[in-house]
Amino acid sequence: MADKMDVVVVGSGAAGSVFAATLAEAGRSVLVLEGGKSRTLDDLYSSQIWARRLKTGAAMVEETGKHPIWYNFNSGHGYGGAAMHHYGVWPRYHPEDMKSQTLYGRAIDWPFEYDELRPFYDQIQADVGISGDAEAEIWRPPGDPYPLPPILVNQHGEAFAKGFKEMGLHTSPIPIAVLSQPYKGRPACIWDGWCDAGCPTGALANPLAVYLPRAQAAGAKLQSESTVTRVLMNQRGDRATGVEYYDAAGERHVQEAETVVLAAFTVENPRILLNSGKSDSAGGVANSSGLVGRYLLSHAAVMIYGMFPQETNSFFGATGGQLFNQDGYAKDSDEGAYGSRQWEIGLATKPNDLLGIAMSRPDIYGEALHKFMHDGARHLGAMVGVCEDQPNVENRVELSSTKDRYGLPLARTVYEYSADALKLWDISAQEGVAITRAAGATDAWHGPLGGQHIMGGTIMGNDPSKSVVNRYSQAHDVSNLFIGGGGVFPTSSCVNSTFTLHATSLMSAQFMCDNWSAVSA
Ligand SMILES: Cc1cc2nc3c(=O)[nH]c(=O)nc-3n(C[C@H](O)[C@H](O)[C@H](O)COP(=O)(O)OP(=O)(O)OC[C@H]3O[C@@H](n4cnc5c(N)ncnc54)[C@H](O)[C@@H]3O)c2cc1C
Ligand code: SF4
Repeated sequence: MADKMDVVVVGSGAAGSVFAATLAEAGRSVLVLEGGKSRTLDDLYSSQIWARRLKTGAAMVEETGKHPIWYNFNSGHGYGGAAMHHYGVWPRYHPEDMKSQTLYGRAIDWPFEYDELRPFYDQIQADVGISGDAEAEIWRPPGDPYPLPPILVNQHGEAFAKGFKEMGLHTSPIPIAVLSQPYKGRPACIWDGWCDAGCPTGALANPLAVYLPRAQAAGAKLQSESTVTRVLMNQRGDRATGVEYYDAAGERHVQEAETVVLAAFTVENPRILLNSGKSDSAGGVANSSGLVGRYLLSHAAVMIYGMFPQETNSFFGATGGQLFNQDGYAKDSDEGAYGSRQWEIGLATKPNDLLGIAMSRPDIYGEALHKFMHDGARHLGAMVGVCEDQPNVENRVELSSTKDRYGLPLARTVYEYSADALKLWDISAQEGVAITRAAGATDAWHGPLGGQHIMGGTIMGNDPSKSVVNRYSQAHDVSNLFIGGGGVFPTSSCVNSTFTLHATSLMSAQFMCDNWSAVSA
């Protein structure tokens, strides 16, 4: 059996890399077990076919319910996880997102207020280098100014900006974890629009560019092709002793550790917990509340497209977009639906694949598609509207009766968007098309309902009967077990989740460092 570690981190993605770097730099021995393959930035290729290798290769997820959550689109596998091909749009949650119940009598309050998370947002943005304009971003919650000036705005962003202005709406530079200038040894973006294939230069703050190198420099060990299946518990069932995992040859191993951090993405974390501790407790580990897997959350997203008379050259730029709008953020606006919504404007668009030019018109073939692709290559514009959904205990991850190659039940998701989210989606779809027309596009249309950013399932709270983890992402039932990722969010807001899950992970990892003797005892 391998040496016992201070910390075993499950998953090398966004959350796992923050935990690994913070704990290793504090002198803890850290092992990161990653189910997928090892890779470095040099292994990445800017090609849509190659980019599919970044998608999940792990056990399949059965998606059920009225609205699938698009697990395959949202997940990733191998060093860096989904964060390897994420687009780096990094806005902050707003203070009211964490106090919905107190302020509006809706949803669930977080166990802390925005001001408590703010220093962790500020620390993370200083670490990774976010580009933006804090003053022009009039909706932005309090925080340090961005470390870097805004990213490029070209004809694509300018085309849409005209439409927003015509409609009396604002735009600001997008807050994005893409370097507009060299920063801390990493190069500036070259605007080639390949973020979806994993930025090979290190200009985008994915785990291989920032926190994994820091973790390794501080002595953390990374181990690929090590799929964790269970958290192992002591006899009393109140402390984790380590994890069980399987290597590439299908051989079972046990890794002992003083503390366990589950950072295997929103759907896999509950699956591991529900599959654990079967001999001792029927409902899995850390599940005295019965809420492991519950309150799953997803954003309802709508892609908007326009064909412009002038050139947009949308193949150019960062995939996450150029401009930003949160004019629709007020949850209790008179739009007829509760919740927030936002726009990410001018997404760099390549010819093929899910978010490519071809898939914006899946209804046309042959000559019509040929002409559309020809025109779209230089004249298409794309933006995305993202809408908040409300926490619902019936939206969940549960175990399937189908087993994976190790004999463990697969995850099954059950999801249905709230009436509020569907109405916000509808409002966004209509508004987006109207903006695009006002911008002068000769044709404007929207895509179907899509799921973005999977959250919830292991939510945080003060009351152990109503949540799985506390304010420090520490399991209420198991004091040396921590959860990393958006799974701990009790509400989704409408903002992209990765900046906030970096901040909650840093808060949690810092708590572990500061209280090491208590959490490891
Ligand atoms: C195309 C795309 C674009 C996105 N764009 C944005 C954006 O612009 N802004 C934003 O905020 N967010 C964006 N996201 C979301 C972002 O990628 C996620 O929020 C983030 O990666 C989640 O972090 P995580 O650590 O929870 O999971 P991940 O980063 O996915 O890391 C989880 C890791 O755990 C590993 N793992 C899973 N199961 C096991 C197991 N059993 N044993 C061992 N290891 C395991 C996985 O292989 C993976 O490496 C985007 C996502 C995608 C897919
Ligand atoms: S556009 Fe910029 S951030 Fe995206 S892949 Fe290219 S260099 Fe990296």
